[in-house]
Amino acid sequence: MYQSTFTRHKTREVAIGNVVVGGDNPIVVQSMTTPDTHLVDQVVKQIHRLEEAGCEVVRVTVPKPEDAHALTDIKKQIKIPLICDIHFDYKMALAALDHPIDKIRINPGNIGGLDRFKQVVQKAKDKGIPMRIGVNAGSLEKEFAMKYGYPCPPAMVDSALRYIEVAESLGYHDIIISLKSSDVITVVEAYRLYAKQANYPTHVGVTEAGKPPYAVTKSACGLAPILLDGIGDTIRISLLGDPVPEIAAAFDILQATQRRVRKPELIACPTCGRLEIDLEGIIAQLEKRLEGRKTPVKISVLGCVVNGPGEAKEADLGIAAGKGKGVIFKRGEMIRHVQEHEMVDALMEEIAIWEAEEAEKGTLKPGVPMFKTDSRNQARRTARGVHQRDPRWAVIAEAERYLIQRGDAGVAE
Ligand code: SF4
Repeated sequence: MYQSTFTRHKTREVAIGNVVVGGDNPIVVQSMTTPDTHLVDQVVKQIHRLEEAGCEVVRVTVPKPEDAHALTDIKKQIKIPLICDIHFDYKMALAALDHPIDKIRINPGNIGGLDRFKQVVQKAKDKGIPMRIGVNAGSLEKEFAMKYGYPCPPAMVDSALRYIEVAESLGYHDIIISLKSSDVITVVEAYRLYAKQANYPTHVGVTEAGKPPYAVTKSACGLAPILLDGIGDTIRISLLGDPVPEIAAAFDILQATQRRVRKPELIACPTCGRLEIDLEGIIAQLEKRLEGRKTPVKISVLGCVVNGPGEAKEADLGIAAGKGKGVIFKRGEMIRHVQEHEMVDALMEEIAIWEAEEAEKGTLKPGVPMFKTDSRNQARRTARGVHQRDPRWAVIAEAERYLIQRGDAGVAE
């Protein structure tokens, strides 16, 4: 059987409050608040909405002394770790570190030089607070940009490595690195280059991605190559406006790349003139009934016999439909015939049984990366002739025969 070649970038572990990032820990989803930080009620209200959406660490900006003063108050009223975001004024970093925060984010390109950076590192070290060294292409120090002529990935990585070296010289290792740009290719190349040279965990994202839905697609384009290279320990999807939709977008990207699967995966065909059932209606009902379920079960529902049996067989559970009826597969085996009106109920019953069986085996682990699809996709890419020699192919052929009998289904290929 095909084995995935996926390996995760080996990093240290860094604790942000009670959330540990890096190492083998799940990738953590974060977001950032939008009201002025000193408007405590508004900030806390937004953080509560973010918490409800699944946000795991939250960042607030600290540009003014009154924002720093609000940090203790905010921290008292929220459940998730609190990060302070500092640009330009190192004194704001020093002020923020007097409060019970869980991490500080510094932009080395605009903090005002190495001496100031060292003061912040020393205080963070004394207080036991971790730091993100957040390099941004848009605010890279001149010396690095000039060395390469423009703020390219090697220049960004040089900057990050320089500040890592300075922090290490002070005996400080609670570091997380980000190398953000609004340019997808720059982001991908910067993180890949960094991962070859250092082992501090990374916060990943495409910065200033803009307005959804394009911003979500752009973020996915930038993050997928990084995540599939095993890079990334915390993630933020930067969307214009209300930050709450960032959380669902982040989890969807993690789910699609199989870096953190925490809900059922529904596979459905786009439908076409061969469609034999009300697929949209069935998927809508399934989505509703699966809402809130955290099981990492892969469910395939396809509208006709062309790809239905093959996909259903490759999923954990699947329905291959014919005209007004279908065949349910579980773990590659055909287990039951159903009429169209019974499909949703039957699948829900089978999902419950599948969950109980997996729980019994100790293999039901929501939130843990699954890489099964790699092998399945690889199998599908294998020459059809090889499939046909595989005894399991007989199961698909049997389902096709059942669905096609009496001319009920369309012609298979
Ligand atoms: S599975 Fe069948 S109905 Fe769905 S898109 Fe493919 S050919 Fe069309």
